[in-house]
Amino acid sequence: MGRIFLDHIGGSRLFSCAACDTILTNRSELISTRFTGATGRAFLFNRVVNLSYSDVQDRVMLTGRHMVRDVSCKNCEAKLGWIYEFATEENQRYKEGRVILERALVTESDGIDEHMGDD
Ligand SMILES: [Zn+2]
Repeated sequence: MGRIFLDHIGGSRLFSCAACDTILTNRSELISTRFTGATGRAFLFNRVVNLSYSDVQDRVMLTGRHMVRDVSCKNCEAKLGWIYEFATEENQRYKEGRVILERALVTESDGIDEHMGDD
């Protein structure tokens, strides 16, 4: 067992692993909430930390063919979503390198900043 080094990400409205509370990302990295995952609603993020990655898989989605990796929590191994490695459709290229986290698998909470959102 190697030692696990966890990265820290600041900001308000933190998203963390629902299983173990490891911080994953925050609201300022959120690109879109209009995605759908295996468990329902899913969010697209610019940057997410503390993940481990599966091998690349070839997946055909509603928006075309994509090369993706499943992502799970680096701390507890819970599955969280996936990352887009490559999109074959030109208009889907913005997703490359971006991460999907399934809403049901993460917890959203207020960070250190006093920015009580109205949503
Ligand atoms: Zn976890």
